[in-house]
Amino acid sequence: MKGYNSDYGGGGGSDGSVNGEDFNSAGSNSVGQVDSVTITADVHSVPTTGEPNSVSKNYKDGKLDSERYYDGDGNAYLDIDYSDHGNPKTHPTVPHEHDIWFDDDGGFHRGRDKGINK
Ligand SMILES: [Zn+2]
Repeated sequence: MKGYNSDYGGGGGSDGSVNGEDFNSAGSNSVGQVDSVTITADVHSVPTTGEPNSVSKNYKDGKLDSERYYDGDGNAYLDIDYSDHGNPKTHPTVPHEHDIWFDDDGGFHRGRDKGINK
């Protein structure tokens, strides 16, 4: 599943790159601490939990399709989508981001396309 995981840390920031892997090319201010970058390709759905303070970049057909960001507890909190999901009417802005949250029962929720928080 995981392509490769550069997880030897080393600071990181809210945008830029970790260990030579860039992320947040959308320039979103919603992105928090990122200590590691995971690369996946053609996964059916990106996991809702992952390495704490990390981002999972998912590629489709060799193109960056989405980035999912995980907080210090390893819970997803943000998606940045680099495609219109094949539906430009409901996703006119590319890239765009979606908030992610979990309810009290652990249910996974993903908000509407809200553009990019700059
Ligand atoms: Zn989207």
